[in-house]
Amino acid sequence: MHSNRVHSFTLYRMTFPKLSDILEIIDKKYSFSISEKWDNSGLQLGEPANEIRRIMVALDPLPAVIDEAISLDCQLLVAHHPLLFTPLSQINGSTCVGSSVLKAARNNLAVIAMHTNYDIAEEGLNDLLASLIGLKQTLPLKKTDSAELSKLVSFIPVESFETVRQALLPYTESTGNYIDCSFSCLGEGTFLPLEGAKPAIGTIGNLEKLQEKRLELLVRRDSVSKMVQTLLKVHPYQEPAFDCYPLLNETKVTGIGRVGAFPEPSKFKDIAASVGRKLGCTAVRMVGEPERIISTVALCTGSGGSMITEAVKAGADLFITGDIRYHEARDAEALGLALLDAGHFATERIMVDAVAKFLETSFAHSDQRAELFRSNSEQDPFKNVVIEELN
Ligand SMILES: [Zn+2]
Repeated sequence: MHSNRVHSFTLYRMTFPKLSDILEIIDKKYSFSISEKWDNSGLQLGEPANEIRRIMVALDPLPAVIDEAISLDCQLLVAHHPLLFTPLSQINGSTCVGSSVLKAARNNLAVIAMHTNYDIAEEGLNDLLASLIGLKQTLPLKKTDSAELSKLVSFIPVESFETVRQALLPYTESTGNYIDCSFSCLGEGTFLPLEGAKPAIGTIGNLEKLQEKRLELLVRRDSVSKMVQTLLKVHPYQEPAFDCYPLLNETKVTGIGRVGAFPEPSKFKDIAASVGRKLGCTAVRMVGEPERIISTVALCTGSGGSMITEAVKAGADLFITGDIRYHEARDAEALGLALLDAGHFATERIMVDAVAKFLETSFAHSDQRAELFRSNSEQDPFKNVVIEELN
């Protein structure tokens, strides 16, 4: 009576992803290429061909988090802050980073940093905070890049058209809330195969005329080569015809931080209480009049103190961020900008759940599975203490 076991074996033909598969999943949604120039996002440590069965997600790749990941038999730690940031000239076990690298390597634990690529990307950390606190119609606060676009035009025999189109669609640029956009029309192609050619259709020395469809696709400049490589792979012709045009269209701006508005203007103190509660803070720091009515809000997760001028330029009444310094608070006062410092940890720790869910959802659409864990060991290093309660 072994039928149950055989049955379940056939039902669950799941495989474990490789580290390179997970990098690809992350890169597709939160492209590492949009990171700030000074940043070091991406694969920090690990062998891309290694199988990943268990993944831990954390804000910081702290020694305690690395221990936690190893004790749970994880093969990958996905963290927001990079483990390796400044270039190392030695991996010295007596330094904090060095010993973490050595320990992770010894225990076959890979490390990926989803840092400013995740801050900047749509549906990344800044969008996550904006939607958590209820901001609507947000735009990037500070531009980091604008995507240059191209148009790829190719000519495909009618019977192969849909196969080629489907293969190329994943590389197209979205237009607002529309994806998989393409244009096509019917026409006539001609060619005359010469001696040595191996035509898919037609014969050497005879002029061929046949119905082809012209396919037009919008593509980011940095994805053109991937799209062309795919076209050459799937197109039935030996020498497919295609044109690639650079476009002067206004392109989509990517940026860090967000600016938007609440559906209804509210008092600063009410916003502070609501944001603080949603982020699990025991206290927040406020600069500005608590009764002030706030309409437009800028935010930047983590340390946003350097973006006070951008917040003012964007017309914000309030700037929500973490790590505000004394003179930055003074600048904001002088500029008439209210500040809400909810802490670096609290404004960014929300990534743990979101990234774990993102990876779980990505696996749900494939035949690959890895188990996801959220780090329990990391805490805000700052504790708000009421002095009277210290005794
Ligand atoms: Zn940070």
